[in-house]
Amino acid sequence: MSEDSTQPRVRLEYPADGVARVVLARPAKLNAQDRRMLHELDDAYQRAVRDEAVRVVVLAADGEDFSSGHDLDIERAFDMDGVTPRTLTGGFDAPGAEGWYATEEEVFLGLCLRWRELPRPLIAQVQGRAIGGALELIWPCDLIVAADDAVFLDPTSAFGAAAAEYFVHPWELGHRRAKEMLFTGEPIGARDAQALGMVNRVAPRAELEAETLALAQRIAARPQFGIRLAKRAVNRALDLQGMRSTVESTFDTHHLAHAHNRERFGGLVDPAGAAIIRADAQRGRPDHTSDRSDHP
Ligand code: ZN
Repeated sequence: MSEDSTQPRVRLEYPADGVARVVLARPAKLNAQDRRMLHELDDAYQRAVRDEAVRVVVLAADGEDFSSGHDLDIERAFDMDGVTPRTLTGGFDAPGAEGWYATEEEVFLGLCLRWRELPRPLIAQVQGRAIGGALELIWPCDLIVAADDAVFLDPTSAFGAAAAEYFVHPWELGHRRAKEMLFTGEPIGARDAQALGMVNRVAPRAELEAETLALAQRIAARPQFGIRLAKRAVNRALDLQGMRSTVESTFDTHHLAHAHNRERFGGLVDPAGAAIIRADAQRGRPDHTSDRSDHP
């Protein structure tokens, strides 16, 4: 489907007092992420948190699916030519593995870690499919509200890497389910995700936005400093369990995979993965998903 290239990829709205909503607005492309979308997302978060009246931020998405992940024409979609980075990395044109390592350090790892530390509660509102890189937008959020048709999958191992770039899977899912997700590429439905503790609340699709907004308003009405300290406390507890160092070390092996694939196949990913991942994404459609918590 064609799209207007001047159209913003991200929209910032203020649906209620104290609440900002940042919306992925590329539904014709299933909210596929490119460099522009991630930088617009970062700009929107920055605008929201620089406004003292904003006490809670919601991340939402237009359309049937939250996001199909990274644009698969990845080197073109994440070209950093002439772009000012948001993190302190650089050298995007460097030869060998160095340039692409720097690019992903900016657009994936650096932005995910920065959004995780956003100085406001951040709530993800998720419907439909959340594939691969979509998890890199959802998992840095503090709370997740999912529609009953939401499914989460990371099929990246078919591309010859352990996972997508922000590796927190064992903390989000528990180690057994994390391995199953990574080994099989199978989707995890909303109710299953809630049973695993990865999703806070599940709402009927038609009520997702209202339920998320009600949760945001409840948090926005409470004294903010305690909430900010609570966010830091939980994030530091996860870091003390090794989460952040695992994210960083797995990012490095992710680049071992990219370097290996370049040598072996002449591109960043194993080309055999594309067809497998397309099939996994189709299986992630709601009518193909078995939500195991409904079938004990
Ligand atoms: Zn990568």
